[in-house]
Amino acid sequence: MRPGTVSIVGAGPGDPELITLKALKRIREADVILYDRLVGEELLDYAKEGAVRLYCGKSPGRHAMSQERINETLVAYARSGKAVVRLKGGDPLVFGRGGEEALALAEHRIPYEIVPGVTSAIAAAASAGIPLTHRGVSASLAVVTGSRCSEGSDAPVRWDMLARGVDTIAIYMGVGQLAHIREELLKHGKPGSTPVALVERAATPEQRVVTGTLARICRLAEEMRLANPALIVIGDVVLVRERLLGFGLGLFGEAVNG
Ligand code: SAH
Repeated sequence: MRPGTVSIVGAGPGDPELITLKALKRIREADVILYDRLVGEELLDYAKEGAVRLYCGKSPGRHAMSQERINETLVAYARSGKAVVRLKGGDPLVFGRGGEEALALAEHRIPYEIVPGVTSAIAAAASAGIPLTHRGVSASLAVVTGSRCSEGSDAPVRWDMLARGVDTIAIYMGVGQLAHIREELLKHGKPGSTPVALVERAATPEQRVVTGTLARICRLAEEMRLANPALIVIGDVVLVRERLLGFGLGLFGEAVNG
């Protein structure tokens, strides 16, 4: 990495082996690493001796470091000639605010790059055995936030369009919003019998998967005591999983049908 530059890097989801070679190279070269809560901490072991490691952890509703402060810190370290890595869970540009950080860097004329990562929807699907698209079953995939922060903003979630226009819906940040998600989708015509999967801590040894229907999604989550981080997959592709189960070489979490 060149001094005075920032690399916005995707660490991939839970499993540290899912990081890219390029991302690992950036971690090894960095003078300063600003990392998030969902980044596997073992990845920091690859940093060189003396590298500064700064935790910016955000958990739902609590921010260790404000976004503004993170942006300022990136700019300040780059200006002082450091090679800076901004390490984020999954992919930096999928609900990762990597775009905002890139904009801040561009505004301050700091050279930056973006290194993509495996986003958690992709990882959750792979390790739960759910093909997000499948010939004859699903020809489209939407990546959606369940967080209600987008309500009242210029880009609210269009549940009306999603309910009818997309085959597979992958929802991030939805654990606390299941009742709302269910209500919106049912209201806009998604059948209550639509299959759903809840994938908690995907791609980690603690992964749990529960499947059922949209109508019963809240009850399922209660029964399993679903907690963050978790991914919600809605659509007929969840049924393909049932056909794959048993041949997954230990990749699958336990299935409980609701
Ligand atoms: N940039 C990240 C997403 C950050 S938003 C990415 O590309 O994956 C945080 C949300 O990601 C969580 O609320 C959860 O829905 C999802 N998530 C992150 N890690 C996860 C994991 N290991 N298993 C399931 N969902 C995960």
